Amino acid sequence: MAGNDTLFGKIIRREIPASIVYEDDEVLGFLDTAPQAPVHVLFIPKHEAIPTLDDLQPEQAQLVGRLVLAAAAHARAQGLAEDGYRVVINCRADAGQTVFHLHLHLLAGAALGRFGTPE
Ligand code: AMP
Repeated sequence: MAGNDTLFGKIIRREIPASIVYEDDEVLGFLDTAPQAPVHVLFIPKHEAIPTLDDLQPEQAQLVGRLVLAAAAHARAQGLAEDGYRVVINCRADAGQTVFHLHLHLLAGAALGRFGTPE
């Protein structure tokens, strides 16, 4: 994998443990250790370490599609799709990004509050 190693890189290489709930050829999904909803899964690209959404290049656009489709497939498989869910990508400081390996949050399992309110 290209530079920018993070703890998510270590999870991909199975160097640190994670509760992996989804995997395909491009995407790994694992439980967030500080869940913000009854279901909180992180989906990350396995082969490219892109620090933030702002670093995504046009030729990498399909990767975000794969993250979204993985989250949708997981939600469907877990019976969450009918009631609904939220997907979120935090980009940099004002969004509270803490791990600089592009990732998508899947939040589900209860009616979710509104979002985007400044602190
Ligand atoms: P973000 O704030 O968008 O960068 O999201 C990073 C997420 O990673 C946070 O929701 C953390 O709770 C989560 N997190 C941090 N360390 C781990 C870990 N070792 N395994 C799973 N999730 C983690």
